[in-house]
Amino acid sequence: MILSEQKPFEEILGYLEGEKNIFVLGCDGCAQSSGSGGPVQVEEMKKKLAGAGKKVTGAKVISFLCEKALVKTGLRGRVDEVAAADSILVMTCGLGVQAVAASVNKVCHPACNTINLGGSRGEWPGSERCKECGQCLLDYTGGICPLTACTKSLISGACGGANKGKCEVSPDRDCGWELIYNRLKSKGQLGKLKVFLNPLDHAKLMPRPAMMSTSRYALEQ
Ligand code: SF4
Ligand code: SF4
Repeated sequence: MILSEQKPFEEILGYLEGEKNIFVLGCDGCAQSSGSGGPVQVEEMKKKLAGAGKKVTGAKVISFLCEKALVKTGLRGRVDEVAAADSILVMTCGLGVQAVAASVNKVCHPACNTINLGGSRGEWPGSERCKECGQCLLDYTGGICPLTACTKSLISGACGGANKGKCEVSPDRDCGWELIYNRLKSKGQLGKLKVFLNPLDHAKLMPRPAMMSTSRYALEQ
């Protein structure tokens, strides 16, 4: 189980600035259980977007957006609705947003933050990784997590040490920031690199105090 919560609507609207047509994508897995991106929340989001002057070209709730094969098959019947949209608003955890951004040639915006649970909670079917930072940055990085794709977890750009696209720390790995640059370029979003990001709130990279005081958490540590 990955726990997520919706970002403030104002933050989401900020991501959608300059865009009119939006396709909304929800997840019937953990996001449904979290109450952040299941069928109920997708319907609510459609109304909120319409109230904010946006046109929802379509919406779909797919089981497990973190699985790229399911994303592709789930959207097969919605090609026209997705094509008509300026972007996709993805209402799920960081794994799901990354999987959608890697599967669909469309700008993808995260609608949720992934909450830190302090440990492993199950298998990841895909190659995406999320550090559960509680302040998802995927809108600025083309849907590639800078905390996990970059060996140093840099959030403000490359360290400059990459060699032929490989990380200076782990030469067997692609440089995460080169991947981010190439993804942003392919989606016409290089301007995102000019956005100044505040330093991470490291308190959000820890489980919440209420959770750390539960006996279940104590047993799992
Ligand atoms: S920025 Fe990365 S670590 Fe943070 S929530 Fe998004 S995917 Fe997860
Ligand atoms: S080479 Fe790339 S992936 Fe490696 S630490 Fe530097 S920016 Fe991060």
